[in-house]
Amino acid sequence: MNLTVTTLASHTALQILRAAKKHGFKTAAITEPHREKFYKGLGFIEKTYVAGPDELDMLVEPLKAENAVFIPHGSFVEYCGPERAASFNIPFFGSRQLIGVEAVQLEKMALLESAGIPTPKTYKTAGEAEPPVIVKLAGAKGGRGYFVAKDRRTLLERLPSSAGYIMQEYVVGVPVYVHYFASPMFNRVELFGADIRYEANVDGRVLGLQEPTFVVVGNRPLVLRESLLPRLLEYGERFASAVEKRLGERMVGPFCLEAIITDRLEVKVFEFSGRIVAGTNVYMGVGSPYSTLYFDNPMDMGERIALELKIAHEQNLLDMVTS
Ligand code: AMP
Repeated sequence: MNLTVTTLASHTALQILRAAKKHGFKTAAITEPHREKFYKGLGFIEKTYVAGPDELDMLVEPLKAENAVFIPHGSFVEYCGPERAASFNIPFFGSRQLIGVEAVQLEKMALLESAGIPTPKTYKTAGEAEPPVIVKLAGAKGGRGYFVAKDRRTLLERLPSSAGYIMQEYVVGVPVYVHYFASPMFNRVELFGADIRYEANVDGRVLGLQEPTFVVVGNRPLVLRESLLPRLLEYGERFASAVEKRLGERMVGPFCLEAIITDRLEVKVFEFSGRIVAGTNVYMGVGSPYSTLYFDNPMDMGERIALELKIAHEQNLLDMVTS
């Protein structure tokens, strides 16, 4: 196929490019110099471009010449963000605009609320907050820079004087990251898988020596109680409709709702990712159990993206899946 599936060499690049090659696409990775050797050594990556986040615009012309479609992922969102998404002028799989919403915590929560998805209460002032609360400082990376206050005294002591944080009800329960795929080609939202994160210092042998930091070190696969699935699919569908209403464009491709599920089986969504999440890597090469509900063979998220792109390309409908 005369299309080059391209992404940044990080996050979920292995999964995306392995699947693209398998489905007959050309493949390219944009890599920082110190990682080039690793990515170049993998047979399914046909071409590498060496560039840092500040140098992406220089690649626009060469990538256009290769008929590139770019797959944004978590590292692109974190290191390049909405400004680069706007100026990196090659077709993106999925929504470019949503990267801007994902960058602003309050906008993110507003989108979830407008979708009618249950979320933790957000408090504007310490006075109205009902502990336990979690305070998320703006720019905190990987959950480092968050703190949990059990009571009002701790909250008042630790709350920064400057703005730039959000304060949420701390929901007691288990974290669950639910993977979805919004498909214009099949005209549906698919519930595609789930994972949990393996985080320091909440999953580690902390022995009371450290405060929780929630720094993601890896991910583990998860299957959910079957009785939760209809509700979770409905939340995914509501999310896709809310994106369409708010941005005036269709939700396309992978996304994730990040929730705490309580012992009363309430689902409270505290975050979303509007693109592929690293937790889907747990199904690389083996496929997620839920993918077999839609397709006869298990698929990973990279394969699901490649399938959507392939159908769109064959039917001359690339405009429906790119922005
Ligand atoms: P985040 O950076 O938003 O993904 O959050 C990091 C971690 O903090 C998550 O993996 C959750 O375990 C936890 N967390 C975030 N928000 C809440 C909340 N409102 N209630 C309970 N735990 C939360």
